[in-house]
Amino acid sequence: MEARQKSYWLAEALAAEGNPVPASPWEGEGRTDVCIVGGGFTGLWTAIHLKQLRPSTDVVVLEMDVCGSGASGRNGGFAMTWASKLSTILKICGAQEGLRLLRASQDAVKAIGAFARQHGFDAHFRPDGWLWTAADRGQLGAWEDIVEAHKKLGSDAFADLSPAELARRAGSAAHLAGVYEEAVATVQPARLARGLRKAALALGVRIHEGTPMAGLDYGRKMRVRTPKGSVAAEKIVLATGTWAAQMPAFRRTMMPLAADMIVTAPAPERLAESGLTTGVAISDSSMLVHYYRTTVDGRIVFGKGGGAFAFGGRVGTRFDGPAPRAREMAATLKRWYPKLASVPIADSWIGPVERTATGLPFFGSLPGQPDVFYGLGYTGNGVAPSYLGGRILASLALGLGDEWSSTPLAQGPRGNFPPEPFRYVGAHMVRGAVKRKEAAEAVGRNANRIDNFLASLAPAGLTPLKKKS
Ligand SMILES: Cc1cc2nc3c(=O)[nH]c(=O)nc-3n(C[C@H](O)[C@H](O)[C@H](O)COP(=O)(O)OP(=O)(O)OC[C@H]3O[C@@H](n4cnc5c(N)ncnc54)[C@H](O)[C@@H]3O)c2cc1C
Repeated sequence: MEARQKSYWLAEALAAEGNPVPASPWEGEGRTDVCIVGGGFTGLWTAIHLKQLRPSTDVVVLEMDVCGSGASGRNGGFAMTWASKLSTILKICGAQEGLRLLRASQDAVKAIGAFARQHGFDAHFRPDGWLWTAADRGQLGAWEDIVEAHKKLGSDAFADLSPAELARRAGSAAHLAGVYEEAVATVQPARLARGLRKAALALGVRIHEGTPMAGLDYGRKMRVRTPKGSVAAEKIVLATGTWAAQMPAFRRTMMPLAADMIVTAPAPERLAESGLTTGVAISDSSMLVHYYRTTVDGRIVFGKGGGAFAFGGRVGTRFDGPAPRAREMAATLKRWYPKLASVPIADSWIGPVERTATGLPFFGSLPGQPDVFYGLGYTGNGVAPSYLGGRILASLALGLGDEWSSTPLAQGPRGNFPPEPFRYVGAHMVRGAVKRKEAAEAVGRNANRIDNFLASLAPAGLTPLKKKS
């Protein structure tokens, strides 16, 4: 297998570990209680929760590359709650369960910081909150419906900020208005993934890297086949993230698309001049969302959603490599932070994001296979929610009848995308319409009716789409 290009994050995290040799690939025939496929946040948290809940459980993790080489080691590092998804959660789960999940997602962020401290690794966890902003006139008030839904429930998750206070915290006057969510943190995501790997190994989890799942045998003798053997298992957990989109069971329920990231060279003095000195997470409210944060050594990592689509869910190596939109993103960053204009872009990369129809992840077991579980579909918000995803999957695999195995999020996917080729063609049409609509609204114009209609078909991303046109 060809080695993937490492994101800046993963290269930094591996260097901090002394560039270790990957764990040995799985060879031969063997067995385990729970075989987890995928060594990202979901797979690793599942393994850790399993060991914490029932230490005698034997757990094997199979990862095709190295742990943290998927989306978990390439993302923006926003450890977000589900506060911006509240309306959808309430619709799916009802008020009581919705509020429980909201609180659990807030606790998950804190739990990640505490876990890293307890297990002796530094994931650069900085609990400095999230600025959800409007970067042009068309985005103004994108958060209003959500803030209103919180107020109705008595939740004070978001605080209003004056434009002056927003500019002070963001270190830029580019954001016209916004709200602040205190419960969010930023992390160095690959350090978190690698730290989870280390903690899982210490708990006795058997991790095999360089081991792609080559096939799954169902029935009484369930096994995961690998290139050089197989793992028989009582339970199997599929935690393969966006790569699962090519499985027939998920082809219609997840839409894979790329997200681009760039990172500047270190420029702590320039950031200090701008006033952006914290680890706050900042995003705008466009559908092809811009989101960024600083690093502990004074860089900015800047991301943009809504990149290339994968026809038929085939991820392959299409979502590896440098960011095709790096130049455009650098221009936006420099417009928003003129003091950084002369700071070079040090690196760029892309990674796969899987969107669902609801914008929320889903968990469950494969149709007709009650012992094969999956946790997928985080829709660009998986850094902290995967902590809960792992908890749900651990409960499902252990057969615990608790609030995690019975949550409505564990009842499988909700909503399908159209079949190919309509999905691929439709996705391009919708994205084109969203771009035109956002460009018109940015300068105070209304988009035409067709673009408004097509844009309304876009599934929710990191944040819900603004309803009013
Ligand atoms: C560029 C980018 C920016 C993002 N920004 C944010 C953000 O700021 N905040 C946020 O909350 N979320 C963000 N996300 C989303 C977040 O990264 C994901 O939701 C999260 O990492 C999902 O974790 P996972 O373990 O489910 O998937 P992954 O981390 O992708 O792990 C799946 C693993 O399975 C392995 N695998 C796949 N197929 C096989 C196979 N057949 N056999 C063996 N192994 C296999 C892969 O190699 C991979 O390591 C972003 C994603 C991207 C790509």
